[in-house]
Amino acid sequence: MFERRYLPVLVVILVALLVTVVSLWAVDRANTQSPLNSSSDGLSSVSYQWKLVTTWPKNLPGLGAAPENFARYVNKMSAGRLTIRVYGAGEIVPAFEVFDAVSQGVAEMGHGAAYYWKGKIPAAVFYTAVPFGMTAQEMNGWLHYGDGLALWRELYAPFGVTPFAGGSTGVQMAGWFNRELRSAADLKGLKMRIPGLAGEVFDAAGGTAVRIAGGEIYTSMQTGVIDAVEWVGPYNDRTLGLNEVAEYYYYPGWHEPGAMLEFTVNTQAFEALPEDLQAIVEYAARAANQNMLDEFTARNNESLRTLLAGGSKLRVLPDDVLQLLYDKSILVLESLIESDPMAQKIADSYEAFARDVRAYHEISERAFLNARDKVLPPVNFIEQ
Ligand code: CA
Repeated sequence: MFERRYLPVLVVILVALLVTVVSLWAVDRANTQSPLNSSSDGLSSVSYQWKLVTTWPKNLPGLGAAPENFARYVNKMSAGRLTIRVYGAGEIVPAFEVFDAVSQGVAEMGHGAAYYWKGKIPAAVFYTAVPFGMTAQEMNGWLHYGDGLALWRELYAPFGVTPFAGGSTGVQMAGWFNRELRSAADLKGLKMRIPGLAGEVFDAAGGTAVRIAGGEIYTSMQTGVIDAVEWVGPYNDRTLGLNEVAEYYYYPGWHEPGAMLEFTVNTQAFEALPEDLQAIVEYAARAANQNMLDEFTARNNESLRTLLAGGSKLRVLPDDVLQLLYDKSILVLESLIESDPMAQKIADSYEAFARDVRAYHEISERAFLNARDKVLPPVNFIEQ
């Protein structure tokens, strides 16, 4: 028979039990990264919110579309378990601080161009463009089926950053000039926005390379801070309005034959993701990488027509200019390789791959393009 005097004890026991149950529930809720926290389909129900900072002005088409596409792919594929918010240059960090922001975990991801970090990591230039180097197709081959990507990861590992290919523009244009280049002598004293190894080559060829982020190029040309600028190609140059600040549009893009962009991921943040989300990041980057090349391939033609119709003057770089730029490229590359063991290691792999693929492309890509031009009517843009 229950005695009333036991009632207080019973109440204490019940209260203690209730407190224990509530505490366990609260601990479980708080520990959202617990592997026990799974949904009914076996996938972790933990959700992650990442920041992705870029070196581009917010909503820039072309280059700036890659991080937006990537974020959209990831959000969809992960059903919202990993959401990525994209920030333009200056929104969280300035353009040229993107790498440091990712390295220090200010943002989990970045999108930009590896050659922007050459002051800190000289060998990074191989992962955007090498003057007279590999095309987009060749770069993708070296990265994903050669040693390219593994060496890139080795290069960024000391900074706690994991890189992925982040799109390619294909062959770029040589750039916009406010006067005509008739010979190599005209490079003398020319101030040009041209980054990476090509900037050093341009300096060695008698010009002055200036480092300016995309968002400031237009004003720099307009105010005469620079005389010439390389940015991308018809599609993206038109979006910056470069045709309004220079008359002569030169080709070919000797300096950026297949300029590649990069996604950078804070390695610790990446490793904290479950395996399926890691795979989603990897394959969303791969898809965004290819998508950029597809878009530029589709839009450059139409944009060039519009630029020419608007009065821009298309010009080819004189042979002696190309020869001088090539000669200086060799010297600049040699001095980079001599001063940096990692550059030597990457250059060995890059050059061996480039040699082989170039030999094969002689009898495939080039032979086919030549054969096609022999049998089809010519389709040149009219030079004005
Ligand atoms: Ca460029």
